[in-house]
Amino acid sequence: MSIPTVAIVGRPNAGKSTLFNRILKKKLAVVEDIPGVTRDRNYAAAVYEGRRFTVIDTGGFEPDSGRAAVSGPEAGLPAQMREQTELAVREADIIIFMTDAREGLSAADQKVAEALRKSGKPVVYCVNKVDGPKLEGEIYDFYSLGADEIFPVSALHGPGFTELMDRVLELLPPETEEKEDETPVSNIAIIGRPNVGKSTLLNALTGQKRAVTSPIPGTTVDPVDTLVKFYGKTYNFVDTAGLRSRGKITSGIEKYSVIRALKAVERCDAAILLIDAFEGVTEQDKKIGGIAHEEGKGIIIALNKWDLLEKGDKTFDDYVKRVREEMKYLDYAPVVAISALTKQRIGKLYELVDEVVEHGKKRVSTPELNEILDSAVKAQAPGMFKGRRVKFYFGTQVGVSPPTFVFFVNRPEGVHFSYLRYLENRLRERHPFTGNPVRIFLKKRKREDGRERTPEY
Ligand code: GDP
Ligand code: GDP
Repeated sequence: MSIPTVAIVGRPNAGKSTLFNRILKKKLAVVEDIPGVTRDRNYAAAVYEGRRFTVIDTGGFEPDSGRAAVSGPEAGLPAQMREQTELAVREADIIIFMTDAREGLSAADQKVAEALRKSGKPVVYCVNKVDGPKLEGEIYDFYSLGADEIFPVSALHGPGFTELMDRVLELLPPETEEKEDETPVSNIAIIGRPNVGKSTLLNALTGQKRAVTSPIPGTTVDPVDTLVKFYGKTYNFVDTAGLRSRGKITSGIEKYSVIRALKAVERCDAAILLIDAFEGVTEQDKKIGGIAHEEGKGIIIALNKWDLLEKGDKTFDDYVKRVREEMKYLDYAPVVAISALTKQRIGKLYELVDEVVEHGKKRVSTPELNEILDSAVKAQAPGMFKGRRVKFYFGTQVGVSPPTFVFFVNRPEGVHFSYLRYLENRLRERHPFTGNPVRIFLKKRKREDGRERTPEY
């Protein structure tokens, strides 16, 4: 099932990021802060009234060329807006075109509207900053953009937002039912920046193996996915259409790779993060890896183009050390050195995929979890908070993929982050959850409340 994309386009300062934040309000609050990933994010997985979509704030993308078009229909349009419009037209299923009531209609607005109309994509027109009665009359000017319907909103304060979003939801393609299937299929995303070897890897993974052309009965297979059978198991490589269509984008190639990664990651059980071993870990690699981490997906780091390296005894170990330093938040992800070109360790990659998918679905029973918690707390106490001892009462696993745990504590605010890491490590000693992030939440429980009271430490 494909998750639709909604892009917000408009002049600088129209209020795009304000609207973006309003759409994501609830979601952003729970996202961890990974340097360089969460900050300044301009794309995100959104859930609004139970509907899922990806939202892009095109204003967050810096233009590459910096030059305005000199000829053609977009002549005179600032480079930034031209590229944002191009991005939206290319990636989005629905476009929210935002204008600014305070600034009024501009020539650039007209040009963007024209380009959007030509694209044939559904466009929802909105006029932002309609905060006072005085401004309400002025939105009529904006009908000259050629819109049948214009939504006055205040992205900052909220009025008009519900109506705007209702319209967006109406336009969202319906979600197709995902049927339970007897044959387990592992959904795998291949992610990485341009030229790391994603399409070469896809060929290596699917190449000689017969690609399953007819979908398995009862499964919904997206046309952009590639189904493959390997040693009796079925793998669905998600969102591969983008990997195969090549050579079309000449500018802004890096920014698409992030959005594409997000789209693929949302639907996968595990992601293969490809890194060009010859070039080393880059900022873009970290950003893309951060997406898989934030989305709570299984992840395998594959150092591709290993064939290009001169290797000694410790080349791999040293390389892994560097990767660990550069991507601390992915310390749970297994690392494998491969060559998509020569098909080196492709079988090993399949094994890792199986392991990571399987581990993501593991459940630890409550008694066992509490035994682990008990011995961990005994070995190292959580310490004091405001003169009182922090106490862990009990824990339970509340979810899989990613494995998610809730621990009940008398003073959640008194538990240091490093102590949570310690508990996570103790848990992983017994259940490694290979390649999967582990989430631990603390809940406050007063001893007096709890029937499930555990012995005091
Ligand atoms: P972007 O450049 O399109 O992403 O615009 P921003 O979201 O950064 O907003 C630009 C400025 O307009 C900020 O100072 C916002 O606080 C302000 N702004 C955004 N939405 C509204 C609104 O609905 N009403 C008013 N009065 N100001 C707004
Ligand atoms: P994508 O943009 O991530 O899909 O990257 P491609 O699969 O198109 O690969 C980019 C370039 O890297 C191509 O010239 C490939 O032949 C080359 N390449 C991919 N994998 C390997 C590899 O394992 N070893 C070497 N030497 N080259 C590779």
